[in-house]
Amino acid sequence: MSFLELKNRYVLHGRLHGEEGLHIGSGVPSTKSDAPFLRQGGQPFLPGSSLRGVLRSTVERMAQTLFPGRCCILFDEQSAAANCVAGTKKERERFEQATAEEFDKIRSELKVCAICGLFGSTLTASKLKVSDALPAAPVVAKRDGVGIDRDTETARDKLKFDYEVLERGCDFKFSIQLENGEYSDFALLYMAIKEMEHGVEVGGRRARGLGRVMLTGYDVEYFDLNRKYTLLDFLDKGFAKVDKGQFEGWLKESFDEWRKPSKSS
Ligand SMILES: [Zn+2]
Repeated sequence: MSFLELKNRYVLHGRLHGEEGLHIGSGVPSTKSDAPFLRQGGQPFLPGSSLRGVLRSTVERMAQTLFPGRCCILFDEQSAAANCVAGTKKERERFEQATAEEFDKIRSELKVCAICGLFGSTLTASKLKVSDALPAAPVVAKRDGVGIDRDTETARDKLKFDYEVLERGCDFKFSIQLENGEYSDFALLYMAIKEMEHGVEVGGRRARGLGRVMLTGYDVEYFDLNRKYTLLDFLDKGFAKVDKGQFEGWLKESFDEWRKPSKSS
């Protein structure tokens, strides 16, 4: 399928709960803290790019276990799937360095594995967008950390520093958008959502017990020709809505289909 088409769109509106405190550093010390929490307009938030990275590595690990050889792990040449030209440097360069004329000739060979297809690669756009997660009533606190002296491997007083933590119990809203989803995309989304419901870790200082967030609920809006609610219906009436239970059933169907050994992509 081409990105020039728009066959379907699914928007999952999700709710995340901070099971633990969180630290997503801005990377720039401020007058208030050595390691402030990342903010936008003064408000702390979880960047969509972090969540997306967590989702990708989650499905990568699961796919390696359940379907070895069918999908790549990002930046790991050893694990490159045979059916994916984005998985190895040599193959990527064949496409990246091709002139427009050469590219036209090899265009039909541009096949990527399900994970590179969903999350994108240097050769293909992503089908999945993950929004920033915005907290409802954030409470930010300061904690003390201790640096380790690299020479003596001991903590030294002067290496003390502080960092900001978003306290546990924080609720967030975020969304995941999938366009032109095929059954392999829904199968991967099934794994990602299931894992999020059990809890995933984001941000830094995880060894300090920080980072765990859990998906506590979601609703889904969509249009999809295959679900008898077309792009035209969407333009006339807006999105169709589906609840978590029904959507999960759809994802599970795709997952069961994709699990079949005959499927190679
Ligand atoms: Zn791949």
